[in-house]
Amino acid sequence: MPDRIPPNCTLLPAVDVLVLGAGLAGLRAALAALAAAPGTAVAVAATQSGPSGSSFSNMHGRLGLHAPETDAACEAFCREAAAVAVPGFVVPGLVAALAAEALPRRLELEAWGAAFARDAAGRLLLFPSCFSPDSRRATLLTDLPELRRLLWRRIEAAGGRALAGMTALACLREPGGRACGALFEDATGNLTLQPAGAVVAAMGGTAPLFLRHQAGGGNPGFGHGLLALAGARMANTAFHQWMWARVRDRRFWPVWSLLKGAAAADAPLPEAVREAGAGRAGHCPFGYGQRDAALDLWLLDRAGADGVASVTHGGERLDVALFAHAANGGAVVDARGRTDVPALFAVGECATGMHGANRLGGAMVASCLVFGARAGETAAREAARPGEASFARAVAASRAGFARDRAEEREVTGWLAHTLQQYAVPRRNPDAAALSRVLGQRLETVRDAAARVRLAAAGRLKISG
Ligand SMILES: Cc1cc2nc3c(=O)[nH]c(=O)nc-3n(C[C@H](O)[C@H](O)[C@H](O)COP(=O)(O)OP(=O)(O)OC[C@H]3O[C@@H](n4cnc5c(N)ncnc54)[C@H](O)[C@@H]3O)c2cc1C
Repeated sequence: MPDRIPPNCTLLPAVDVLVLGAGLAGLRAALAALAAAPGTAVAVAATQSGPSGSSFSNMHGRLGLHAPETDAACEAFCREAAAVAVPGFVVPGLVAALAAEALPRRLELEAWGAAFARDAAGRLLLFPSCFSPDSRRATLLTDLPELRRLLWRRIEAAGGRALAGMTALACLREPGGRACGALFEDATGNLTLQPAGAVVAAMGGTAPLFLRHQAGGGNPGFGHGLLALAGARMANTAFHQWMWARVRDRRFWPVWSLLKGAAAADAPLPEAVREAGAGRAGHCPFGYGQRDAALDLWLLDRAGADGVASVTHGGERLDVALFAHAANGGAVVDARGRTDVPALFAVGECATGMHGANRLGGAMVASCLVFGARAGETAAREAARPGEASFARAVAASRAGFARDRAEEREVTGWLAHTLQQYAVPRRNPDAAALSRVLGQRLETVRDAAARVRLAAAGRLKISG
């Protein structure tokens, strides 16, 4: 028997659908998978047992949900979403599905008892959205811990299982074929293998990889990497949502204050930048390809290599920086959340195409719900559990090493956070050549180390020093 499960791994009984990630996208996918076919075995993995990710460990404690209510509102949504997607790309069919199904997903949450901001008469409050300041199509989810509890209650009542405290290191794939499970590591370094008939990647985005970010806790930030290594085609990955925030406490800082009273410490705002930035208050995030980005780019020109700029605001001197907020890129998916890899789905911040470089405010929460539901249902219908031998072959073919060095991991993660903050913020003259050079050099070092560890694990080499 050439391919066996490594002896240092716990092997769990197979499930039909394995969901990687317990944010909104993952929980909605799990619910849909459980509802799709009676008796479907579903497991939901997350790095920690409590609230995690930007959905439930969110520093604002509230989430906007964009849901057009009429045909005309759906058309406006699609038009606006396509306009702000440039210079990224969107797939019109995905945008249309998002527009059409956000409302049923919202109504369902209301029926399940989710808390929304309401007026004194109990009517839902409707808000404008970033990049759509004149619309009133967004509602506000106000109690995220309770939302998480109510989704979990429904999952557990339907027989879904939590794999808490499990960090996926790799999505396993039959050589050249279907996704068939994942390799996990727990907090003590123990390795676990979970075979599955289909895998839904819902691990959030890459914002946590940056030195300065506002993403929720419990997301190591390598879900996109895991998808790419499994063979999924990725797109729009250069585009993040960026928010200006105060360095000392990560609180949002409106960059358009520069138009009315605030000033950069070292230079007056040029008239041309003031004029270009006039509409900047229509959206909180930086806008790729938007004329008003001139204001952000001008301030970034004044920031040091660490991305920190000094401003005076209300007589106070503040250090501010662009913080990574969320990813707009991810795996390219079809209308059911399928990636190019058979039996591998991607949802939430792991997927793209329903938004491009920028997205309308509240559209990510809508996308988690709409495509979470679509992907979960499809994954359950198309799941085919791997046989023992083919799962063992998938484990053997996995690129994940079975020995890991925590100290090196911490060191690489810290180095990457500084490197990304220096080279991967949207500056006017991004030094892309320098970024690829430093990443390339580092990759070689890591590859060498990984190769040594694998040889050692195979008993062919003793590591010294
Ligand atoms: C402060 C803030 C405010 C926001 N406000 C809004 C808003 O108002 N409206 C809107 O539409 N969007 C908003 N967003 C964006 C939105 O909240 C997120 O994009 C969305 O919640 C992401 O959901 P998700 O399920 O894809 O991922 P997350 O909610 O981030 O969940 C990721 C899950 O994956 C798990 N995970 C990660 N890696 C692994 C791994 N390797 N193995 C196992 N588990 C893993 C994590 O533990 C977590 O459970 C906001 C974001 C932030 C940071």
